[in-house]
Amino acid sequence: MTLWDHYHLPTTVDEALLHLAHYAGEARVVAGGTDLLLDLQQGRKPPVAALVDVTRIPEMSRIETAGDDLYVGAAATHTAIVASTLLAERATCLVEACGVIGGPQVRNVATLGGNVAHALPAGDGTLALVALDAEAEVAGPGGCAWKPIRGLFSGPGRSTLDHARDVLVRFRIRGAGLGRGEATAFKRIMRPQGVALPILALAVWVALEGDRVRDARLALGPAGPTPLRPERAEAWLRGQPLEAATAEKLVERVWAEARLRTSAHRATADYRHEMVAVLVRRALGLAVQRARTGEAVPEGLGF
Ligand SMILES: Cc1cc2nc3c(=O)[nH]c(=O)nc-3n(C[C@H](O)[C@H](O)[C@H](O)COP(=O)(O)OP(=O)(O)OC[C@H]3O[C@@H](n4cnc5c(N)ncnc54)[C@H](O)[C@@H]3O)c2cc1C
Repeated sequence: MTLWDHYHLPTTVDEALLHLAHYAGEARVVAGGTDLLLDLQQGRKPPVAALVDVTRIPEMSRIETAGDDLYVGAAATHTAIVASTLLAERATCLVEACGVIGGPQVRNVATLGGNVAHALPAGDGTLALVALDAEAEVAGPGGCAWKPIRGLFSGPGRSTLDHARDVLVRFRIRGAGLGRGEATAFKRIMRPQGVALPILALAVWVALEGDRVRDARLALGPAGPTPLRPERAEAWLRGQPLEAATAEKLVERVWAEARLRTSAHRATADYRHEMVAVLVRRALGLAVQRARTGEAVPEGLGF
């Protein structure tokens, strides 16, 4: 049995949409294939008439600025993201998140768009984009639109994208890294032999005003069916002083919103509960330190 009958390599988004329209729901977008090909091979998804490969569309691999905003193409590989000095400086948590995905072979082909479209609640690049409050440009039969990143997730592994008709083109992060006293950080807990998803991961964006937190966003996963933004904890954090007790009180508020589960291959819910505290201390501490000093050198990148 073949897993697909035709393989297309369009060079524009319009061409990709035409291919998808031609197969009327029987084709599927593919980028690095590190999730999709396993799903097809292992029977989690049925064979398709065609794969439409979006990695030859130049605009979908670009990492650039326009005005104050950052743009990251959905087909940018994790390796390209890690190599970007622009992102290291202005979206540090994204570089840190993509830098720990899989191993080098995976990162060389796997893309940020594929990570988001796969819609796992603990996709590393996905969590970073959620903390950065990114928007996604989605092209489909009805035209092109910018959507808030959080609107793309409807459940574990379930995206609001129509994979047979929509193309995720690029991500936009408005004004990232330009505000004074603003910084990000990403940390995750992984089994030593783990290669795919983490026990728990957290991305943090923080903006300071003097010795207090002016604003903050956290993205935690897996802690629910979709990447979790603990909004009540974030609201409480605004205006809090920069002291150790703040992180400890924040942990309790994040616990109240996280839905932690025991998973057979990764960790118990109790262990994850403890790790929430570890990650909040580490990631918030690092983001605050970066925001105070204005220096952000990505940490913990894979080899
Ligand atoms: C050994 C191994 C280790 C891994 N480790 C990690 C890890 O540590 N952390 C982590 O988060 N993930 C990990 N992954 C999962 C995977 O590599 C990432 O999610 C990756 O970013 C997926 O990107 P891709 O380009 O390969 O997606 P693909 O497999 O090409 O596509 C995935 C899904 O997204 C859709 N899609 C892809 N691009 C688009 C687009 N532009 N528009 C619309 N739909 C699109 C496809 O139709 C498919 O449904 C690992 C995978 C492997 C095999």
